[in-house]
Amino acid sequence: MKCSVIQQKLSACLDGELEDSQNFLVESHLKTCQTCATEFEKLKKMDALLDDGVRLRPHPYLLTRVKASVRASLEKQTRPLWAFLHKGLAPAFVVAGLLLGIVIGLQLNDNLPSRATTEQSADYSIIDANFVEPLPSGSITATYVGLVNSMQ
Ligand SMILES: [Zn+2]
Repeated sequence: MKCSVIQQKLSACLDGELEDSQNFLVESHLKTCQTCATEFEKLKKMDALLDDGVRLRPHPYLLTRVKASVRASLEKQTRPLWAFLHKGLAPAFVVAGLLLGIVIGLQLNDNLPSRATTEQSADYSIIDANFVEPLPSGSITATYVGLVNSMQ
């Protein structure tokens, strides 16, 4: 038999649907022809995969996950302006907010009434070095003040 005729009967041979005489011819050919034997092995592997297909059931939440993924993808595509504002201009908004805060703070500082009145300022002028009791000699503070004074 020709290879083309044999290859048409391979599937039936695999399924055990051939008569004994036909089955004998095909099996005899497969022993002598490497090409048809290779095709027969491929058919066997495909048949085994199809048998395993019973175990390959989709995950119950596969459809939900696919829908959620598609929805998220569509939301990204429909809001490019928001995405640009959110990601592209965020540093500019932060800098603008800081500058605005500084300007408002400076304006408030200029407009607030001064806490120290002129009388309080006068009270502070009374305090000078002579008014404070002398530091005890040998203390850490006296040593520090002496060092600072010697450096000036
Ligand atoms: Zn052949």
